[in-house]
Amino acid sequence: MHELAITEGIIKIAEKEAQKHTFKKINAIKIVVGELSGIFPQLIQDYFDIASKGTIAEGAELIVRRVEAKIKCNDCGEESNVENHRLRCKNCSSLNVKITSGKEFYVDSLEVD
Ligand SMILES: [Zn+2]
Repeated sequence: MHELAITEGIIKIAEKEAQKHTFKKINAIKIVVGELSGIFPQLIQDYFDIASKGTIAEGAELIVRRVEAKIKCNDCGEESNVENHRLRCKNCSSLNVKITSGKEFYVDSLEVD
């Protein structure tokens, strides 16, 4: 149900923006979802169709931009992509790594009328 709360959050943001800028309709909502955020975009889309009914966001298209997971090695400094959620440096196999991207989740922008 994690995604349901997130979806309601997205709709709240959209409604707040609508109040602030007085637009009539939201055509699309762009969200950014990192690979390591633990969020399933498909579930958000499913919940969104239900939860947005009767709100200004009803019928809006949800556009998801996935952000690849990346890590930076604290030992050798190499930056590499994460495969299969394995947080290990590709260069030296160290587990002493820092996640530099992939955990983000936010509403990027709204397309409105
Ligand atoms: Zn390394």
